[in-house]
Amino acid sequence: MVITTHPTAKDAEFETLLDNTVADLQNKYKKDPKSFPSMTSEDLEFAMVEIKVVMGRGAGGAQDDDTPLEKLLRDFANLHGAKNEWSEKYGTDYEDDVVMMHTYCWCDEALCKWCGGDEPNFRYKPTGFEVTWYKYIGRDMKHRPISSEEVEEMRKKLL
Ligand SMILES: [Zn+2]
Repeated sequence: MVITTHPTAKDAEFETLLDNTVADLQNKYKKDPKSFPSMTSEDLEFAMVEIKVVMGRGAGGAQDDDTPLEKLLRDFANLHGAKNEWSEKYGTDYEDDVVMMHTYCWCDEALCKWCGGDEPNFRYKPTGFEVTWYKYIGRDMKHRPISSEEVEEMRKKLL
């Protein structure tokens, strides 16, 4: 099973197509594992890893290898997010005196601070630590280097 695309492909339609392809394959496998006769569990694991890369980091929400920072962002989003949004994956919109979180924005309005790149997706105000991501937490994340101690400090304050 080989599906190739660039991990940072930004074509939403293609992504949807790919998501559907992956879902199809998973359904087929669930219904009839024998239709993948040559696939050992090791192969399957490899295929899953490959799919994860193709879909972009964080496309399925939390991951086994989440960094402490990714885990903090997901836990924080879950704490403040609505039940019907997938906050663990997308983050949520929340702001108080200490912290601001904003989901990735697609509105494309001229004055939008998030589409214009003026505002990050996350800011911890006491230190000014900022994170931006593309579409969902973990994907193409940009932030200054941060120690595990500093992440732990934020965690204590925010959760
Ligand atoms: Zn916007």
